[in-house]
Amino acid sequence: MDIRVGHGYDLHRLVSQTDGGRTMILGGVAIDCSVGPIAHSDGDAVTHAVADAILSAANQPDLGSIFPDTHPENNNRDSKEFLIEAMDRINSGGWAIGNIDITVLCDEPKINPYREQICDSLRSLVGAPVNIKGKTHEGTHRGGAIEVHVVAILQRGVSA
Ligand code: MG
Repeated sequence: MDIRVGHGYDLHRLVSQTDGGRTMILGGVAIDCSVGPIAHSDGDAVTHAVADAILSAANQPDLGSIFPDTHPENNNRDSKEFLIEAMDRINSGGWAIGNIDITVLCDEPKINPYREQICDSLRSLVGAPVNIKGKTHEGTHRGGAIEVHVVAILQRGVSA
């Protein structure tokens, strides 16, 4: 059995919706929040980092190369479509996901109340166990942003 690990990272600046922040969507789940990401796509930083982790593990180009943020068709695009494309690419290489572990850093929103919903949403797209945990920026200068770190395990050649 082959096993690969991939790391994904994403960061978006957060501003109020009146200042151009999009609706907060994390892992495909809409979240009630007074701030939202500045983004070309829908700004779902969790889904972006998950897609980058699995693409990276399979030696695929990164998300920004596949879906450039200069492309009009990616404007406000549902990021679940990015993850579906990433899954198609790794599946055609014979890879399946072992598990995905996500850490989100942001002062707002709190992740815990949405934990199950986000995990369910992502699990339905990747067909493997997903875990997510939230941390704050602890009063540092990065408070105006959301950061996401993801580790993904890919495996192939697993006997049924
Ligand atoms: Mg992003």
